[in-house]
Order: sequence, then structure tokens, then C-alpha cells
Amino acid sequence: MIQLVFPEGKRKAFTVSYDDGVKQDERLLRLMNQYKIKGTFNLNAGLLGKKEHAIIDGFDTDVTRFNKEEIAVMYQGQEVAAHALTHSKLTDISVQTVTYQILEDRRSLEELVNGFVLGFAYPFGLYDDIVIQSLKSCGIEYARTVDRSGSFQLPDDFYKWHPTCHHNDSDLLQLVEKFIRQDKLFGSPQLFYLWGHSYEFDQRNNWDVIEKVFAFLSQYHDDIWMATNGEICNYVNQFKLLKFSTKGDWILNPTAYKIWLLADNCVHSIQPGQKLIIN
Ligand SMILES: [Zn+2]
Repeated sequence: MIQLVFPEGKRKAFTVSYDDGVKQDERLLRLMNQYKIKGTFNLNAGLLGKKEHAIIDGFDTDVTRFNKEEIAVMYQGQEVAAHALTHSKLTDISVQTVTYQILEDRRSLEELVNGFVLGFAYPFGLYDDIVIQSLKSCGIEYARTVDRSGSFQLPDDFYKWHPTCHHNDSDLLQLVEKFIRQDKLFGSPQLFYLWGHSYEFDQRNNWDVIEKVFAFLSQYHDDIWMATNGEICNYVNQFKLLKFSTKGDWILNPTAYKIWLLADNCVHSIQPGQKLIIN
């Protein structure tokens, strides 16, 4: 049996996803860089630089956004993804406005980071088939919901990418421990996907919780692929492009990426454009 494994033959991956591009991201990014955690930040290009306080979940919250000029430096080494130009409820507006919200956000962010923007997080977690179709037309490759899966499975559909949990979920630490305890040798690859807003750490004064999670997971760097959302989506999509002979004993990697796989309990890797022969 051929099974996907992550780069370097790892069986587990960890990623985070934080929304809205607020100033509190700076503290989160410091922790991520300290513990070598990778993730994705979902920004609204039309709201950059906006100074604002709002009552969110009953807390008076500073939701001031970074300025345009700060984006490239601030998020260096992490992924920037789109989150709709002005954080609109995409299920409540016309198709052409949905497309504008996605495409103009994507275009502006690409200009700011001088690179591809291929990911998306649904504002307010709202989506439907029209929104998904529009994301595809705009060249977006994956989109995150706010629906907790509580599981470590890779998504069946990258346009309905459900996170494992939110950082305020009461069982966060139990889930992290369960993820570490999972058997390394058998079963499908495991992904722990954590999401939230960094201003929520200020609201509840619980920055220690996220640091605890990062510090704990960072002990397992040899077993866990720390990756951005986009790196994970791309790797899985490239894996799906492998070509197999009828008997499954020849495998061609037609992609531009090195790909790892598990065959009969042995980890193999295939260089771009190369063929693997399994005896
Ligand atoms: Zn948001």
C-alpha cells in the first residue's frame, strides 16, 4: 500500500492560522519564531492601517491593523493569505462583489508581500457553493472554515478545510497530548490545525497557553513537520499527481517537488521528474 508521508518521512504536521492582521500578531509571531512554528495569517488588504476598538465576545478589544508598509517585514517567513478585501459576509453579497472581495484582496496582498497569495480564510466562517466557485476562479487553492473537526485528518476538500480546534477550546492541551501520543508507525498522516485571532490572547490574558503549546510541540521537531497552511495544501496536491504503473511497482514524480511516500512500511522519496521502482 502506498501512503502519503510528509517531507523527511514525517508522519505528523502542525500548522496555525490567525485572522485579521491585527497588531497582536507581532507577539504571536515572536513566539512562533522562537519555537520554530509555521503558519498562515489571513489579511484584509482593504482594512490595513485601520485603528479600531470593538466589543468582541463581551471584551473591549483593540483590533488595530498593521499598516501596508509593515506587512512584508512582519510576516516574513510565514504565509500571508487572503480573508476578503473588507471582511465582508460573502454569502450575503452579489457574485460579482464576492469575486471583487477575493481577487482584489489577493492582488493587493501579492503586491505587498511580493509573492503568491493562494490561501483564504472565510470571514465569519461563512461560505457556500457560489463562494467556493468564486475562490477557484480567482486562483485560490484552499480555504479555512471555523468549524472545529476535533480530528487530525487531512481535509477531503481543501475548500472546506476545517481546523482541529480553536486555541480557546477547553480541551486544547488534551488534544495536543493525544496528537503526540498517536502511533507513529501505522495509520494515516496526522495534521494538527490550530486557529484563532491573536487579540483573543489579550482578551483572556492567556498568552501562556499558546506558549505552552508551542514549547511542548517544539520538543518534537524531528517528528512533526512545522508548515504553513499553503505548504501542506501544496504538498498533498503534488502527491496526488504521482503516476503509478498498473502493478503499482513504478511510481513517477512528474512534479517540481521532492515527494515522500510510505510503501510496505518503508519510507521512500522521489526527486522531481524521477521514477521509483519498488521491488
Ligand atoms: Zn476575520
